Amino acid sequence: MKTFCGRANPTTGAMEWVEEDENYDYHQEIARSRYADMLHDKDRNVKYYQGIRAAVCRVKERGEKAIVLDIGTGTGLLSMMAASAGADFCYAVEVFKPMANAAVKIVEKNGFRDKIKVINKHSTEITVGPDGDMRCRANILVTELFDTELIGEGALPTYEHAHKYLVQEGCEAVPHRATVYVQLVESKRMWSWNKLFPIHVEAEDGEKIIVSPSEMENCPGVPSVCDIQLNQMPSSDFTILSDVMTMFSVDFSRPVRSASTYYRVQLEPVKSGKAQIVLSWWDIDMDPSGTINCTMAPYWVKSTSAFQWRDHWMQCVYFLPNEEPVLQGEKVYLTACRDEYSLWYKLQKDSGAEENKADVRVESPVCRCQAHLLWNRPRFGELNDQHRTCQYIESLRKVLKTDSVCLCISDGSLLPVLAHYLGAKQVQYFFLVFKANHLEDKIKIIEARPELLTSSHLEDKKISVLVGEPFFTTSLLPWHNLYFWYARTAVTSHLSSNITVLPQSASLHMMIVEFQDLWRIRSPCGTCEGFDVQTMDDMIKNSLNFRESREAEPHPLWEYPCKSLSDPQEVLTFDFRKTVPQHGLGTEGSVSLLRKGKSHGAVLWMEYHLTADISLSTGLTQISNEKGNCEWNPHCKQAVYFFSSVIESETLSDLPSAVTYAINFNTKTGEIAMDFKL
Ligand code: SAH
Repeated sequence: MKTFCGRANPTTGAMEWVEEDENYDYHQEIARSRYADMLHDKDRNVKYYQGIRAAVCRVKERGEKAIVLDIGTGTGLLSMMAASAGADFCYAVEVFKPMANAAVKIVEKNGFRDKIKVINKHSTEITVGPDGDMRCRANILVTELFDTELIGEGALPTYEHAHKYLVQEGCEAVPHRATVYVQLVESKRMWSWNKLFPIHVEAEDGEKIIVSPSEMENCPGVPSVCDIQLNQMPSSDFTILSDVMTMFSVDFSRPVRSASTYYRVQLEPVKSGKAQIVLSWWDIDMDPSGTINCTMAPYWVKSTSAFQWRDHWMQCVYFLPNEEPVLQGEKVYLTACRDEYSLWYKLQKDSGAEENKADVRVESPVCRCQAHLLWNRPRFGELNDQHRTCQYIESLRKVLKTDSVCLCISDGSLLPVLAHYLGAKQVQYFFLVFKANHLEDKIKIIEARPELLTSSHLEDKKISVLVGEPFFTTSLLPWHNLYFWYARTAVTSHLSSNITVLPQSASLHMMIVEFQDLWRIRSPCGTCEGFDVQTMDDMIKNSLNFRESREAEPHPLWEYPCKSLSDPQEVLTFDFRKTVPQHGLGTEGSVSLLRKGKSHGAVLWMEYHLTADISLSTGLTQISNEKGNCEWNPHCKQAVYFFSSVIESETLSDLPSAVTYAINFNTKTGEIAMDFKL
């Protein structure tokens, strides 16, 4: 059987349905899953084990049999903990078939076949009774169904159902309770992920300011969670305006309601400023007394000794609908609204609706300005990066003349506006900002794919300047933006003979790195709290090698510290002044290892050469010290290719002095294949 997967073709920019082996989705899901990261999360595992032991003890002390329901068992880990802690029987429920199969194997290998029954169903499909999946209701409910936002993976409806149909009244729950915390902050950096800041352009005839339309100013944005590794956000990038407040708690040992609701806290700002952002995280108490606590609190809130790196649970950034000035000591009210799966926040100056609760609307935010649908948060950040804009302005100024006919190819780009102010006539598609800046008649939007461009679109003019950032929303890996090159090739017949292309070229760069933590997500675990989970390791390895070629994966490396073990190396160049060649572009070579450390993988990124002397890096921006710590472009994802075996060197002399590589850009598919030998 075959299955069809939607994917953007980097040579056409179009979404296509690609026929894949029926197991493709499974393998992608396993290979890119967070299971390894969870198994490496020692803090989580130890605390679950303590909580489960305590819950089994409490039930036994009451003279009852301990019957456990483990919803979302994954590898079977929490059920095995319960069985080891003396539980009489465990029902381990897992909806994802490959994982349920793995759980059966792991449970058997660890000798728990008689104590644990793996059920491959969604928990809401479980039947209870003499002939049911479960003989009787459980008196211990164990789950780990939380995401960074706590409720995004459907924990609330799952608990609601479980309390109604699957567990006894007064059951023990591990975790016992979850609590969501918030802190109000001002942060230009984070606010730039949500609103378009005015852009200043020094034009011939004075300074021009590109402003965002009022619809955008007042737009509540999109409800999707913004989850980040908040611990990588330096304290200089935000100002704390309030203490940490408890927003709400959920007691998992009692019936849970998933219906939409809201919670409100009163807070007194500790500092005056502009309230823009609500930072949020949660903790879980594994036992009723709260002595076994697992917290996601960021570095400025918790002691460093409690620190555990993890990627499966991070912290949330919520954007208030508008920025709101607040005064130190002057009370404000923060409301958290939630539906079954997500949360959003608003800030009010008075308690207002206190007597009239029906007034509080709990409708999820909907983007009214379109911009939040067109630009995701990193893209907002990129467009607001004044330094980057200056680079484009400077290079546009070099290439544009008053009679330039300029064509821009990039998604949701502001380059046409810049080009117009800098003196060109021109073309492209994205209305909103144009309207706010009264440019509808100056900038023409061509709603045609590059290969369908006709001379009538261009009013029979030839294009003298072709510009792109390049940026395309369908790009996953850095080199997918080379679609610009394909589009440039498609419009060749419309280009004048002395065409200027900006950027004139691009280059692919590569560097060998040691990750501080990111290696965990792809590293085998072996045993976890004494349980053999190698079956899971093998399964992940198998999925990673599914197509016999390992692939690079995108990660925003500003969130994942690493140090360089080699110099950055330019490996391929792409000349946009020429068309895409028929033959592929390949390179082989070796890169010397300069520092001791663990070679976890290679990082690859693109650099765009706007003109001969102005370049922009979408990857490495700096190696900040002699230890090799790297700084990355904060708006872009880089490509990470994890090596299948890690080489570790204590001293430089025992280093294999180089890593050899073969990197091939297939011009037919727009993809890059790579191979490394250590
Ligand atoms: N309990 C494991 C794995 C947690 S990951 C551990 O702690 O290591 C959560 C798992 O729950 C995923 O495998 C997911 O497929 C499964 N899941 C989520 N909701 C579920 C539900 N309502 N019923 C059954 N499985 C569920």
